[in-house]
Amino acid sequence: MIECAAYAVTQTRGRKYLEASPAGRSEFQRDRDRIIHSGAFRRLEYKTQVFVNHEGDLFRTRLTHSIEVAQIARSIARRLHLNEDLAEAISLAHDLGHTPFGHAGQDALNACMKDYGGFEHNLQSLRVVELLEERYAAFDGLNLCFETREGILKHCSAANAANLGELGERFLQGRSPSLEAQIANLADAIAYNNHDVDDGLRSGLITLEQLSKVPLVDLHLQEVNKIYPGLPERRAVHETVRRMINTLVTDLLRQSESNIAKQNPASVEDVRKAPKLILFSAEVNELQRELKKFLLDNLYRHYRVMRMSAKAQRIIHDLFGAFIDDRRLLPPQFQSSEGASEHARTVADYIAGMTDRYAIREHRRIFAVEEIPVSL
Ligand code: MG
Repeated sequence: MIECAAYAVTQTRGRKYLEASPAGRSEFQRDRDRIIHSGAFRRLEYKTQVFVNHEGDLFRTRLTHSIEVAQIARSIARRLHLNEDLAEAISLAHDLGHTPFGHAGQDALNACMKDYGGFEHNLQSLRVVELLEERYAAFDGLNLCFETREGILKHCSAANAANLGELGERFLQGRSPSLEAQIANLADAIAYNNHDVDDGLRSGLITLEQLSKVPLVDLHLQEVNKIYPGLPERRAVHETVRRMINTLVTDLLRQSESNIAKQNPASVEDVRKAPKLILFSAEVNELQRELKKFLLDNLYRHYRVMRMSAKAQRIIHDLFGAFIDDRRLLPPQFQSSEGASEHARTVADYIAGMTDRYAIREHRRIFAVEEIPVSL
């Protein structure tokens, strides 16, 4: 491993439950390994962001997305002499709390939970690693290091922060997270903006001609067309997207290196007191804003995506309503005898843990009257 800078996270503040230090690997490598071996991580394979899992085998899933985020974050962390293992662990865990059906699912579950404290995927990711994974004899969750959990919680309202103890403090005090956490956060944006371009084109919902009006795409597409005239479209798309990722990563490195040099932090504590240092340049921020706007108007709000989202929301609403009305419809381990609010949270945990296809099947099992179930 390359030697870390003075402002890198090299030690942990510790875990909630005391454990002996791992032999042969670092604390953050152990966190990464625990995340990869968790059940929630495996379920990411069948959860999606824009396209529902059964729409095509070549689209990104949350699993491949998380791996892409980890790859980008590690490259940046290594170059900035930060803790690559921590950036990787945060990246791999960042989407563990996502509901089925991406943002449509999260919005629906949040609406269902409005009288019970709401639902937020970012907080749910934390809940997965702190409570919901049941793998260890001595504790609930994965007992990850403070810095990994801190990085997973990238945003949080003041009301929620007040209930989160030391993890919530930075939101109340306006402090920054570690540079490794800041990297994972922006690596997420680099990954999804670019793969949504790729998947959007593959789906046929957006075209290269439309995209060529977006400056960040046009810049690189023109270059590709100049070097490789007549290149088949799939290859031209890939050559363009890889150049886009490279531009974003290179810009992020340049701007962040300059910010770090100016701020000159001597420790992790200095990083926490400073404003965010891992940033894109203003110019590249603007290019990304235009790309995001294009994707929102033309892909995320495409009528075929909206149609699928509406169906997804109905599935979540129906399931939630059924489980709230009759606890006996739930698998035994979710049938609590607790009050309404605790029960609603248990239902939200159950639904959030579902994959796209499991939610569709469960809906069919409960609501479909036209077919005789072949399995119970
Ligand atoms: Mg993500």
